[in-house]
Order: sequence, then C-alpha cells, then structure tokens
Amino acid sequence: MRKKIVIGNWKMNKTVKEAILLIEQLKPNLRDIEDMDIVVCPPYVSLASLHHLIVGSNIKLGAQNIHWENEGAYTGEVSSKMISDFCEYVILGHSERREHFSETDEIIAKKVKIAVENNIVPIICVGETKEQRDKGLIEGTVEKQLEKNLSLVTNHSSLTTLVIAYEPVWAISTSKVPQVCKPKDAVEVISYIRGIIEDRLKKDVADSVRILYGGSVDSDNVGNFTKEEEIDGFLVGGASLKLEEFVRIVKKIGEK
Ligand code: PEP
Repeated sequence: MRKKIVIGNWKMNKTVKEAILLIEQLKPNLRDIEDMDIVVCPPYVSLASLHHLIVGSNIKLGAQNIHWENEGAYTGEVSSKMISDFCEYVILGHSERREHFSETDEIIAKKVKIAVENNIVPIICVGETKEQRDKGLIEGTVEKQLEKNLSLVTNHSSLTTLVIAYEPVWAISTSKVPQVCKPKDAVEVISYIRGIIEDRLKKDVADSVRILYGGSVDSDNVGNFTKEEEIDGFLVGGASLKLEEFVRIVKKIGEK
C-alpha cells in the first residue's frame, strides 16, 4: 500500500508574513491527519522561516524549482544544495515552467538528477496540452516526458520515493470555470504511467513510486477522485492557498 500524499503548490503567491500565517493556521487544523504526507511548496523566500515552524508537525516542505548545478555563475538562481536544508521535495517540470521559462525535458532531466543527488524527492509533472489531447497524443506525450526526465538517473534505487504528478495542462489553473479531468480519464493515464515506470525501473521501485492527479482540484471535486485506488494523491494549486479549502481537501482525501 502506498502512502497517500497531498501537495500544495503556492506558486508565486504569499509574502513571508502571509506564508507564516497560513502555516500557523494549517498546523492545528491538520494535526490529526495520519497516514498521509502533507507537503506545501511556498516560494523560496519563505522556506527558511517555515522550516522552523513545521518542526514537530506533520507538514513537510517542498520547493517549486531548482537549478541543475549545485553552485556557480547563474545569477538569480537557487540550487538544490541550498534548499536541501529546508526541503524534502521539489516540483520539477511544472507546465508553467515548461511554458513560461522554456524548460525542456533535457533541462528537467538535469534537475531531477541533481535533486536526487541532494536527497530531495522530485515531484515530476507531466501532462498533455489541449491540442495534444485532441490529436490523441496523451500517452505518447507523457511517455516521452517521463523517459527523458528520468534518463540521467542511473541509480534506480534512489527513485523509490519519486512522485509523479499527471497534470493535463488544459486543466491547470482553471478554478474560475473549473475544467477538471474526468476521474476515469485520469486513472487511464496514471495506469499507463505506472506501466512505463514498471517497464523502465525495477518492479519494487516502480511499486513504490506515487502517481498523483493535479489540475483544478478543489473540495467539491476531490471526492470524485479519491474513490480511485490508482490515484496516490493530489497536486493542488489555487485551492491550496485558502486555509479552509485546503483543510477540507486534505480531510476528504483522509476519509478514504
Ligand atoms: C498546479 O499548480 O500544479 C495546479 C494543479 O494548479 P491548480 O490546482 O490551480 O489547477
């Protein structure tokens, strides 16, 4: 049985003060949640402050990005070595980074490799655009992304903790008019991803990799997904910024 995991991606939201407030409020509200990993991914500037606040709680921290080197002349960048003091996880290959920052699968592969070397668990995001979906290219797209993104990690045993998020690009950040993937469609792709992982990595490694759904998840629709055994958890964007909403989502996942 894989442990469920819920990840809040705060994106470029919350000042340090606001981030501290949200964590202080989340802690007592989530205290009783067991058998689930709860991870929040705030902007870099809040990581050090939040790291002190989560000590002794059931909340873990993740970053939203890293550079592919440990140090060097890369103005404005932050490395996995630097965040390894604060974070257990890092989101890599998010569609917003692929789209707005031209991150290629090759760049993501280098980031996955250095994250693993610094003992940070990569949360690799894969998923098709609307155009790719309309052309029937869902499976081919996620397969190509995953193959390339994992290509530089040769020590497969270091991937037992890996998290993969299936995030159809057309379903992300559509909270005003939610466009959520149908649970059965998400399950189909997630099962396909598990097959790819089983094919490429050792069976016991593949069995422990957690595969999540992400894309406009909220407290109203999360219950439709939690019934599905194949979905090991959720990557939540917009809804993770609101205290009550995120707590409701986590509790609904825990009810299963
Ligand atoms: C995300 O940022 O990964 C995400 C799924 O966002 P949202 O839940 O807002 O669609």
